[in-house]
Amino acid sequence: MKYVSTRGEAPELAFDDVLLAGLARDGGLYVPSEWPQFSAKDIAAMAGHDYAGIAYRVIRPFVAGTIPDDDLEAMVRETYAGFGHDAVAPLKQIGANHWLLELFHGPTLAFKDLALQLVGRMFDFVLTARGDRVTIVGATSGDTGSAAIEACRDRDNVDIYILFPVGRVSPVQQRQMTTVDSPNVHALAVDGTFDDCQDLVKAMFNDAPFRDAHNLSAVNSINWARVMVQIVYYFAAAVCLGAPGRQVSFAVPTGNFGNVLAGWAAWKCGLPVEKLVVGTNSNDILFRFFETGEMKIEAVNPSLSPSMDIQVSSNFERLLFDMLGGDGAAVRAWVDNFRSTGAVRVDDARLAAAKKMFAAARLDDDGTRRVIGDLYKTTGELVDPHSAIGVDAGRQCRGDPTVPMISLATAHPAKFPDAVEQATGIRPDLPARISDLFDRDERFDEIESDLDAVQDFIRRTAATKS
Ligand SMILES: *Cc1c(COP(=O)(O)O)cnc(C)c1O
Repeated sequence: MKYVSTRGEAPELAFDDVLLAGLARDGGLYVPSEWPQFSAKDIAAMAGHDYAGIAYRVIRPFVAGTIPDDDLEAMVRETYAGFGHDAVAPLKQIGANHWLLELFHGPTLAFKDLALQLVGRMFDFVLTARGDRVTIVGATSGDTGSAAIEACRDRDNVDIYILFPVGRVSPVQQRQMTTVDSPNVHALAVDGTFDDCQDLVKAMFNDAPFRDAHNLSAVNSINWARVMVQIVYYFAAAVCLGAPGRQVSFAVPTGNFGNVLAGWAAWKCGLPVEKLVVGTNSNDILFRFFETGEMKIEAVNPSLSPSMDIQVSSNFERLLFDMLGGDGAAVRAWVDNFRSTGAVRVDDARLAAAKKMFAAARLDDDGTRRVIGDLYKTTGELVDPHSAIGVDAGRQCRGDPTVPMISLATAHPAKFPDAVEQATGIRPDLPARISDLFDRDERFDEIESDLDAVQDFIRRTAATKS
């Protein structure tokens, strides 16, 4: 399996190089040069396997030739044995043929653990084989950072620097990043927004001498490996509800477009998906795009669902590459245009083609509280604000009622206890395994939103280690 850049000017790479590279040299994102196909027979054969068994089957073709089958299987088994629920990603029924896929049973209580716990192990595996080490830098709006830190802590061959926007992550998210006492972990509190943090990370990757000097790598959602590992739960949930014999739909609370892109990738690989519903909060650039075909940037407003407070959704470029027929030059022109003017559109034919698969819904904070309260009243389930947006998107964009609608629950309610309490009167408890989070000591460094300042910090810290 080979991977190509969405901007067409970086070398084709095998999976292990894509894993370590993160962003492509031309600024693009790696995608498979062709999608592995799972036939109806292959999908039917997944039924009855546990989550790790399905993960092994789904991931194998994507990493073929770079991770031997036995090693992959061992890593997958070890990864998901560490989750807090035997089913790893259990389904709960919340309405007529409407299901909640709980993706928050990993160590940091958010869906990002599903991918990152395995990706961290893949990094160690590949780096050990090469006798190499890397510096991971990442931007987070909250959940990526803690999940990446948990995935990399105490790993021999990795240093990790995570930039988070100060005051814009929840106390639980912040503490999950700042209470990890491991010498290879650095949490940097940036005076700016998530988009500022993301721009700083991108700028470091575009600085080739810096990138090479520190062997930079990324585990944020631009890394293909994360999207790839997320494909697994789309297969697992669909098989549970009758695939390949029947179609399913998914509703996905979306920020960087990584999670829902994995659903689209599952469909490209042969999973019978009827609809993918993109759910946004009031930072609704993706909702507006699917309504009008125009991608137009607006200011980021803080919301109850901070992990979706994003205007520039990096992973959208992977879908765009497909929409533009795999033409890297066209993607480059589109992205340049977007960067310079803040607005760009696709033509009606391409929009219509995308809307065969995608629908979109948007929910503001009042609506989010209403959905949390209403779901609690009707089912007894507590959901966090991100998950509530997924629940509502699934309700708003319900197509054929005989097709199961699966709303993705992306965070544990205890990660956002204030919003849940406002909506229901109930303050959800942290699971026992992290119930002492607020008693642990914090360790982080404050830094201004400035490329020189951040690069300097990394240079100085690296110097103390060698
Ligand atoms: C990261 C995150 C999202 C958004 O996921 P994307 O892949 O960026 O679309 C949604 N909900 C929660 C809880 C998250 O942590």
